[in-house]
Amino acid sequence: MRIILLGSPGSGKGTQASMIISKYAIPHISTGDMFRKNIKSGNELGIEAKKYIDMGLLVPDDLTLGMIGDRFLESDCQNGFLLDGFPRTLIQAEALGEELKRAGKNLTAVVNLEVNDDVIASRMTGRRVCSKCGANYNLVFNKPQEEDICDKCHGQLITRDDDKLATVINRLQVYKNETQPLIDYYKGKGILVTVNGEQDAEIVFNNICSTLEKVR
Ligand code: ADP
Ligand code: ADP
Ligand code: ZN
Repeated sequence: MRIILLGSPGSGKGTQASMIISKYAIPHISTGDMFRKNIKSGNELGIEAKKYIDMGLLVPDDLTLGMIGDRFLESDCQNGFLLDGFPRTLIQAEALGEELKRAGKNLTAVVNLEVNDDVIASRMTGRRVCSKCGANYNLVFNKPQEEDICDKCHGQLITRDDDKLATVINRLQVYKNETQPLIDYYKGKGILVTVNGEQDAEIVFNNICSTLEKVR
């Protein structure tokens, strides 16, 4: 199962990713998480990437492609992988396609999570993330048992720096300009499946799974 999760910021990619990877036993490859790890460790890549991320812009393709390398061909990807937040530009999609082709592999499906902008704004401002394990919560839709504490590891829950409303608005525009063209790109390759992401997370997950069962 080699899957890409496509969808605007806040469409539920991370939430769905954690359910999909446990069902199909494949690694979760999230470029957003990779950038945040580099930022946390304070290295050069992290410092450079943070400049763009905090403005709601995409990190340039050369940095992104350099970071991900051929992560999706590593040994834990024997049974496949789930890409979350990558590719986000046509250049990245072409680069991924080339690498996979060289390795004699192809993509199983590109799952496009469809969610309207007004729903996105309310989700993003309520998003909280565990500073220790990265688990995702939402003050409205998926509350932690104790305020600001992670149910899983008791880490502190924080708001991401890039989840401020003004930054969210930028990110939605960037998504429309740079990432949305990937929908037609993968439609043209006949591997795009679209799922309504505005339903309960469990229902979205069931719809994704039944779609994947048909194409695998
Ligand atoms: P979200 O889940 O809200 O869509 P991510 O956690 O995937 O956001 O990414 C956070 C930020 O990291 C993005 O807004 C962007 O600045 C940067 N980023 C992540 N993945 C990529 C990528 N493939 N190309 C360029 N920038 C990226
Ligand atoms: P993405 O990775 O695409 O940015 P997330 O999975 O982080 O999206 O979800 C964004 C916010 O919306 C999080 O706070 C999450 O808990 C919440 N969320 C995710 N899926 C749903 C859903 N189906 N219904 C309501 N809220 C959701
Ligand atoms: Zn945690």
